[in-house]
Amino acid sequence: MDPHEQPEQDELTEAQCAELRSDLVSLQAELERHINVGSESAETVDLDAPIGRLTRMDAMQRQQMAAETLRRQSVRLAQVRAAIKRIDTTDLFGLCQRCEEPIGMRRLSARPEAPICMTCQRAQETRR
Ligand SMILES: [Zn+2]
Repeated sequence: MDPHEQPEQDELTEAQCAELRSDLVSLQAELERHINVGSESAETVDLDAPIGRLTRMDAMQRQQMAAETLRRQSVRLAQVRAAIKRIDTTDLFGLCQRCEEPIGMRRLSARPEAPICMTCQRAQETRR
């Protein structure tokens, strides 16, 4: 059996929770910084600059990619903020918001802002 397929049932200890909270706070700062820089660079692509057609298409493509990155970072930032709020105002942090099972420390150390467990995440991705 693939070890990654084993369900994780570990509830978070207070220390783990504190550790994840500090991860979330630095992640929040990092994302805010990226989003500030990103929205500047998405705006400063000058499409009227005297450049070749291919370069211009290139610039537009880069701009679109920057906008997409920015969108994904904003979604993640919202999840990070929600996770911090969940730690501060509830004792439900670390539990899946869909099935209420523990999300598991392994997944949370990779993505502390994850609102749902791996099983629900997979189910959601398969439905798409
Ligand atoms: Zn779940």
